[in-house]
This record gives sequence, structure tokens and C-alpha cells, in this order.
Amino acid sequence: MDSQPFTLDVVTLKRVVFSEPIESVIAPGTVGYFGVLPGHTPFVSSLQVGITKITKPGGEKLNLFTSTGFLMTDGKKVILLAEAAERPEEIDAGRAKRAKERAEKRLAERTADIDIDRAKAALLRAITRLKLSGQ
Ligand code: ATP
Repeated sequence: MDSQPFTLDVVTLKRVVFSEPIESVIAPGTVGYFGVLPGHTPFVSSLQVGITKITKPGGEKLNLFTSTGFLMTDGKKVILLAEAAERPEEIDAGRAKRAKERAEKRLAERTADIDIDRAKAALLRAITRLKLSGQ
């Protein structure tokens, strides 16, 4: 057993969302979900919007909403930097529902001034937040 704990920091430009020892983490990479365990080869990956699944030492699970960003590890610690990240209890489901409706309306209208990619990205954030908040 390594004496140093394996740790995960989930940060945004606004705050530290999570900073604790972990057993493992599964993150939504741009080419699919991937897992990181202690001793992982050093690497950096870009992330897409999704649910980051943390297993704490002892087996307790915690899922976080994470927006686009990056994950890096040196095999001893993991740092996840995202545009936005929330614990399930921090998600305002009403706000996410309103964001979902706005995005759906824009996608249905598809007028020339609407940025379709932006609306699709907003819809994915809203749907993922609603899923994690259990709505
Ligand atoms: P909205 O249109 O409601 O702002 P969004 O998907 O555009 O949603 P983001 O750009 O992902 O929002 O996030 C902006 C900030 O607002 C971040 O700090 C994020 O944590 C927070 N945030 C966004 N939506 C929610 C929500 N439903 N519940 C809690 N915090 C939220």
C-alpha cells in the first residue's frame, strides 16, 4: 500500500467543488467515459459534459455534474478543471428545466440568428443536471 493517499480535486474558476482522497474516478472524456486508478500513467484528457463518478476510500460513491474541461493525473493525484461542476444537492432543478425549455425552443425554431451548437450544448447540460438531480 502506498502511504500517500490518492486524491481528487474538482475545481472551477469560481470554487473548489471536491478535494478529498479517493479510490477511483470515472470521467466523461470527449471520446467516452474512462476510469482513473492510483498509479495510472500520467496523462491529460479533455472532458465533455457528463457525470463524474467518484468512489471514495471504503466504497462510498459520489456523482458530480461536470461541464466541459480537462482532467490530468500523475498517478498520485487527479485534478479535474471544469467550466462548471455541482454536487447533486447543489443542482437547482427548476433552473435546469428552464434552461432545457429555452434550448428546446431554440432548436425547434432554428432561425438564422440561432447558434445551434450552443443550443445543443445548453440542452445537454440541462438534461445531465436533471438526470443527476433525479428529475
Ligand atoms: P443557465 O442557462 O441556467 O445559466 P447553463 O448551462 O448555461 O445554465 P453554465 O454555464 O453551465 O449554466 O453554468 C454557469 C454557472 O451557473 C456555474 O457556476 C454553474 O455551476 C451554475 N449553474 C448553472 N445551472 C445550474 C443549476 N441548474 N443548478 C445549480 N447551479 C447551476
